[in-house]
Amino acid sequence: MQSISLRWLFSILLVVGCSTPLPFRSPPSAQTAKEDPETKISRDFRREAKKTLKLISDPEVDRYVNQMGQRILSSMGPQPYEYRFFVIEDSQLNAFAVPGGTIYIHTGLIERVRKTDELAGVLGHEIVHVKGRHMARLSGMDPLNLLALLGVFLAGAGAQGQMAGVVGQALAATRQLSYTRSLEQEADTLGVKYVAESGYDPRGILNFLKIIEHERTLNPVDIPPYLMTHPVTQERIAHVELALRSTSPGRFRGEALDPIRRIQTILRLQKYEADAVIRENEKLLVGYPANAEPVHFLGLAYHHKGRLAEARANYERAKGLNPNTPGIDRDLGRLYTQLGEFALARQAFERSLNVAPDESLNYLFLGELFEKEAKFSDAISSYLRAQSLAPLWPEPAQRLGMAYGKTNRLGDAYYYLGRSHFLQDEYEKAMADLARAIKVFGPKSARGQAIQDELDAIRSRGK
Ligand SMILES: [Zn+2]
Repeated sequence: MQSISLRWLFSILLVVGCSTPLPFRSPPSAQTAKEDPETKISRDFRREAKKTLKLISDPEVDRYVNQMGQRILSSMGPQPYEYRFFVIEDSQLNAFAVPGGTIYIHTGLIERVRKTDELAGVLGHEIVHVKGRHMARLSGMDPLNLLALLGVFLAGAGAQGQMAGVVGQALAATRQLSYTRSLEQEADTLGVKYVAESGYDPRGILNFLKIIEHERTLNPVDIPPYLMTHPVTQERIAHVELALRSTSPGRFRGEALDPIRRIQTILRLQKYEADAVIRENEKLLVGYPANAEPVHFLGLAYHHKGRLAEARANYERAKGLNPNTPGIDRDLGRLYTQLGEFALARQAFERSLNVAPDESLNYLFLGELFEKEAKFSDAISSYLRAQSLAPLWPEPAQRLGMAYGKTNRLGDAYYYLGRSHFLQDEYEKAMADLARAIKVFGPKSARGQAIQDELDAIRSRGK
C-alpha cells in the first residue's frame, strides 16, 4: 500500500505522456477571442506589476499560494475567471485582489500568519471580492478608470515610500479602492463559508484579524495598507464570529503537517537572510536537539548558500528525527539530484509522490533529475504531468520547451516556450515562438493549424 513503485507510476505516465505526445489543448485563456473587461484589467495589471513590483519566483512559494487558492475555488463551483496568485516581496502587511482574478499577497503578510488556515482565510476573503465583482460595484466605475486607479496604486506600492508625491497619490487611490462595510461583510461571510467547505479551518481569518488589530494598537501611526482597503473594526470581528457560528464545526481536515513555517523560511532565504536563519535555528536546537524542524531549516539555509554537505547532513538528520517533516523528501530529492546521487534522489521523490501524488512540484523536480541523467523522454513525461496538474503555471511549459529542444524536437520546443511566454503574459514573445513552431510543423499540418488558431486567438485580443 505504502510504496507505489516509481517505475510502475512511470509506465502509466509514459502511456499518458507519450502515446499522445501532445495532449493538445490550447492555453486556457486563448480559447475565447472576446474577453470580458475584468479579465483584461487583470492581464494589463499583471503586465505592469511585473515591471514595478518584486515578485517571488520560488516554485515552492508559487505552488503553495496557488494550490491554496485553487483548493478554495474548488468549493465554489465553475468560475468566470482564471485565478492567479502572486507573492510580492514587501514587508508591509497587505493582500489585494485585482478584478478578473489576480490576487497578490505581500511577504509581510505571509510572515505574520501562524498557520496556513489564517492565510486561507485571507485568500478566501479576497477571492470573494473578485467573484462578487466588488471593485466594479464600489462606485460603478468603468473599467478604464479602475485600471488607471490601480495603476496609481501600483506606482505607490513600487515606490515603497521613497517618492512622497507618488505615495500621496497612491494613498488617495487606495482610499478610493477601499471596500465599503457591506462589501467587507459579504467577503467575510462568504469567505468563511468557502474556506470551511474546502477543508481549511475558517477560524483562521478571525485569528488573523486579531493579529492585525493588535498590530494597529501597537503602532497607530503606520496603518498597514491591508487595513486601509479592508478596515478591521470590532463590528467586523463580531460579524466574522457570527459567520463562524453558522459553519458546522468538525468538517475541517486540519493541517496536521502545516507547511507554513517551511514556506516562511524559504521566503527569508529569498531575502538573503540565510545567516540569520542559521543563527536562530542553531539557538533553538540548544534547548531541543531532537527537534526536526530547526534541523530541516538549517538544511534549507545551507542548501540555499550552496553548502551542500552541511545541507545533506541536516536534511538527513531531520528526516531521521521525523520522517513526516513537511517537504523534507522533496528537499532531499533536489539536493541528491544536485549531488549526482541519482538513486537516492529517485527514492526521495518516490516517497514524496507517495504522500502527494498530485503535487506538480514533485513532477517538476523529478523531471530535473531525469534531465540530469540524460533521460529526456522521461523528463518530458514528468514535465507534461506537472503541466497537466497545474495548467496555468509557466514553469513546466518552460522546462518542456528546453527539454524538447535538447531532443531536437524543435516544433514542440518552440510551442512550449511560446506557451510559457503566454502564461507569463508576454504575448509578443509568445506569438513569435508559436509562429516558429508553425513553420517547423508546416502551416498545412494539423499541428500547424491548431497552433495557428491559438496564435490568432492571442492576436485578436489586441494589446
Ligand atoms: Zn476585504
